[in-house]
Parts: sequence; C-alpha cells; structure tokens
Amino acid sequence: MIYSAPEKDAEFLLFDVFDVEQIWSKIADFRDIDRSTIEAIIAEGSRLSAQTLFESFQESKHSGCDWNGGQVLAPKEFKNAFKELTSGGWLGLSGNPRFGGQGMPKMLGCLIEEMFWASNASLYLYGTLTVGASLCIDSHGSEDQKKAYLEKLYSGQWTGAMALTESHAGTDLGIIKTKAEPDADGSYTLTGTKIFITSGEHDMAENIIHLVLAKLPDAPPGTKGISLFIVPKFLMDSNGDLSERNSWSSGSLEHKMGITGSATSVINYDNARGFLLGEENQGLNAMFTMMNYERLSVGLQGLGSGDLAYQQAAQYAKDRVQGRSPRGPQNENGVADSLLVHPDVRRMLFTQRAYNEAGRAFGLFVGMQLDLANHADDPVAKQLVDLLTPVAKAFLSDKGFEGAVLAQQVFGGHGYIKEWGVEQIVRDARIAQIYEGTNGVQALDLVARKVIKDGGRAVQSFLEYVRNTRVDPGFEEVLEENLNRLDSVTQGIVRRSQTDVDLPGAVSADYLELFGLVCYAWLWAKMVHHAPNDEYGSAKKETARFFFHRLLPRTVFLEQSIASNSDVVMTLSDDAF
Ligand SMILES: Cc1cc2nc3c(=O)[nH]c(=O)nc-3n(C[C@H](O)[C@H](O)[C@H](O)COP(=O)(O)OP(=O)(O)OC[C@H]3O[C@@H](n4cnc5c(N)ncnc54)[C@H](O)[C@@H]3O)c2cc1C
Repeated sequence: MIYSAPEKDAEFLLFDVFDVEQIWSKIADFRDIDRSTIEAIIAEGSRLSAQTLFESFQESKHSGCDWNGGQVLAPKEFKNAFKELTSGGWLGLSGNPRFGGQGMPKMLGCLIEEMFWASNASLYLYGTLTVGASLCIDSHGSEDQKKAYLEKLYSGQWTGAMALTESHAGTDLGIIKTKAEPDADGSYTLTGTKIFITSGEHDMAENIIHLVLAKLPDAPPGTKGISLFIVPKFLMDSNGDLSERNSWSSGSLEHKMGITGSATSVINYDNARGFLLGEENQGLNAMFTMMNYERLSVGLQGLGSGDLAYQQAAQYAKDRVQGRSPRGPQNENGVADSLLVHPDVRRMLFTQRAYNEAGRAFGLFVGMQLDLANHADDPVAKQLVDLLTPVAKAFLSDKGFEGAVLAQQVFGGHGYIKEWGVEQIVRDARIAQIYEGTNGVQALDLVARKVIKDGGRAVQSFLEYVRNTRVDPGFEEVLEENLNRLDSVTQGIVRRSQTDVDLPGAVSADYLELFGLVCYAWLWAKMVHHAPNDEYGSAKKETARFFFHRLLPRTVFLEQSIASNSDVVMTLSDDAF
C-alpha cells in the first residue's frame, strides 16, 4: 500500500484559496505565526504520517487489541508510533499555550488531523479523544482542573475518553442510568455501565481520563438532568502524583467490523470516584464542546479514508492492464491497456478526487470559522460553525465511505481480497458514518435545530457569505442556480414543516446531501479561481469540470425528492414492516 500526505493541497488551500496570512494577521493569538513555521509543521506532519504512522498501520494489519482480565492491550506495533506522535507535541497543536499547548490555528489542525486519520485511523483514535477531552476541560474546567490535566493530556502522557453511551441509550442520552452521588469532600461516586467506549482502557498511556455523563440523585428527567464528570483511571494525591487505581474497569472488548487496533470497551463504574466538570445538570452542553470538535474530526476521518483509498485506486489503475481502449490499443506492445483508458474507471477515480479535494477545502473552511469564533469572537463565524458542523461530520464521512467503495470497485476482485488492503479501508471508513451521532442524526440536527428553529436565517447568512466571495466566472452561473436551489428548498422546508411534523425527519438526509453538494460546488468554483496555470492547476480545473457536470446535477433530483411530503414514508403501518 502507498500513502503520501496532501502537502501541496494543504499549502494551496491555506495560502492561496483562504489567504490565511491576511486572516491571521487580524487575530491577536495568531498574528505572529509566519508562513515558514506553518510550512515546516505541514512538512513534519506529512513525514510523521506517511512514514511512522502508515508503517505502523501496515505492520499492525493482522493484530487487534487483547483483553486480559480487565486489562486491555493495544497492538504492540502502535507503541513506538504513538510515542513519536505524542512526544512531538501533536496532541497539543491547537491546545491552550498557558498549559503547554502550542496555540496553533484549528485550520492547521484540520490538515494535520486528516493526515493522521488517513495514515492510521485506529492509532489516531487514541489521540483524537485526548485532544477532545483537553478541549472540554479547557472550556469548562476550573483553573485547578486545567492545571491538573491539560499538560499531561497535551503531551500524551495521559489520554482521554468520552463515556456517554449505555446499552439502552445511544442517540437518546436523556435516558442514561449511570448515577453520580455527591460525597462529603466535594467529589462524586459513580455507578453504572457504559458500552462502546473508544480508548476507554488500554496500555498506551500511564493514565486515562474519562469524561463521563451521569445523573445526580435529584436530577430533572431527560437531557436537562445530565452532568459531566472527570473520572481518571488513577487518582492523584495532594502532590499531583498518581496514587490509587479508581474503581472502574473494562468488562470486555467490543469485536468490530473495522478499526480493530482501536480499543473499544464496555466500562463498568463500580463506585468510581469522579469530579464534576462544569455545572451540575449542564453536562450535555459541556460535552457538546467535545462532541463538536469530535464531529469535525470524524468528518476528517472520512476524508482521510477517502484519500487513502483514492491513492491506492489511482496507482492500481495505472499499473493494471485489462482490455483495450474504445479508441483502439494505447499500449501496443502490451497484451492490454491500463485501466485508465476505460471511461468508467476514470469516472470512479474522478468521483473520489472531486469529493476528497472539495472535502479538504470544506473541513478547512469549518476550521477557519472555529478559529474566528473562538479567537476573534466573530458572530457570523459562530453561526457558521453551528450550521456547518453536522454537514462536515456527515457529508465528509459519507463521501469518504463512498470513495472507499469506489476504490474497491476499481480493484475489481482484488479489492475484495485482503492482501491489497482496500477492503480494510472500506471496513475502517464505515464507522465514521455511525459514531459521534449517526449521520441520520446529524441530518436531523441540521434541518430541525440549525435550519427550522431559526426560520432559515443561518442558511441566509451562509448564502450571503458565499455570494460575497470571488469564484471562477466559468462556474458562476451554475453555482448561482444551485445557491438559489438551496435557498428555495430551505424556505420550502421551513414553511411546510409548520403543518407536517414528520417532514424534517423525512427529508433530512436528502437535505444534508443537497447542502453538501452546494458547498462543494462553491469550493470548487473558489479553488479554480485561485488555481495556478500549471499541471497542478489544470488538474484542479478538470476535476472541477467533472464535479459540475457529473456530480452537482444530483441536486436536481434531491430537490424533487424533498418536494414530497412525509406521508410517503409515514403511511405504511408499523405491522407491515
Ligand atoms: C466503534 C464504536 C466506537 C464508539 N465510541 C464511543 C465512545 O467513545 N463513547 C461513547 O459514548 N460512545 C461511543 N460509541 C457509540 C456511538 O456514538 C453510538 O453507537 C451512536 O451514537 C448511535 O447510538 P446507538 O448505537 O445506540 O444507535 P441508536 O440510537 O439506537 O440508533 C439506531 C438508528 O436509529 C436512528 N435514530 C435514533 N434516534 C433517532 C432520532 N431521534 N431521529 C432519527 N433517527 C434516530 C439512528 O440514526 C440509527 O440509524 C461508539 C460506537 C462504536 C460502534
């Protein structure tokens, strides 16, 4: 297998398409960052992913995690690679500098994360939950909690985990049963069982910091009665040194379809000691800080899988000879022509790269809005982050999986056989559509909370924002047609949902798909506007042409599909299913 990190794209997007030097110059926290530092970080992230992480991914192909009496062992091939990842300070790249973080923009973090996901998704899961946990503690923790945990998390000496799900409560966290009883010393005693906990227990770090959702005895019912607790594996003594083992343990490992190097446990909290993070009964809001970060990150996971799959498929299509070109033999001395002569193979490869390259731009754009929201207190950026996070999570992961399946198809039967590795990318990519809130739930979040609840105003601001940017004139007209389509579909949903309560859920998946395609159309038109007149730029223009001619027309079908009312899905009786 091969992997090379998209360094050239990263620099093109940062410096040409989004002109970050101009944006950062207006943000006090980022004013002093210079281009050469950014280029050096990208080069080093690229080296680490393409060499160390990708090598450990290939070496660990046949290993998984082991469970031994409550102890969980991560693949042994991960150990050195994880050490290199953490000792390089990568988990603190966008962390708070007051506690040992590097304070770099999230935009840069997005590019680096994609590389880590692509090169070893299972390994990076130990990292991303650590980054998310530190962000949550930094946003909601007391000064003492920040001092106690952040530096160790940024350095990867300790790792993080997020414990929400219970066997009867996944999407619906309002019905969780895990209990937290207050103790006289201000701490809490937690009892309950969580399932599917990524990096909940493993041997890659000396301590594991769980962020656990639980209910206080007098909590109001539903989501308003959930609190968030820090529940470390090892407690600390008054000097901050590790002391006794907390009373929780891994009950078993989950046996999964993919990402088998990532340790996913059932965790039993058996009178475990925990510490309130944020306010009582405000746990879900606090957890959303972590979840929003993780959602963008999981979108980038999808993108990473899509790019890894594309690289295998493009190389295979060049090397594999099969059949002859419709134009007559192109490889006259060979027994057959390469797969690249077949228009249908080119369609599959183009589809993958059109989604990947626009997805990279989209992830970066959402990262830019996060930077502006958190470091410049920009109200439009805050609105855009809320609106676009569910799209980034679901659309990037859907397209990543679609791309992985297309890559498998390019390989033919060899894509189904283990030795080429493409089937593993398909298995690994699938989870990004499911965890961190299923993509169905992301679509509902977009339609119900982000669109209908504010009468479509956030979408209006987004459209206005897009219309104020410069794009390639050749794509302007079709882009405008699609912006109008998104506008009228949005207004139609807001209006129709007043009388059809099932409408949001009935059309949400199609609406998110339409939204994603229109965003990608804008970004393609923007990328072409900035594309250089060389081979790299000409590939961008050709891929944009493919996107506009072959993928964007799907919005016409989606508009028609969304025009139907919810009775189409709701009329059939439950018994008939
Ligand atoms: C490998 C793996 C790792 C994970 N890691 C973690 C972790 O670290 N921490 C953690 O807490 N959890 C973790 N999870 C749990 C994951 O986040 C949940 O599985 C996911 O959120 C869905 O919950 P569920 O499985 O209970 O499905 P359900 O909630 O039962 O959903 C089933 C189906 O119904 C749909 N659905 C449910 N409710 C609605 C609704 N209101 N409207 C529309 N559709 C709905 C869903 O979209 C889905 O298609 C992990 C899961 C896996 C498989």
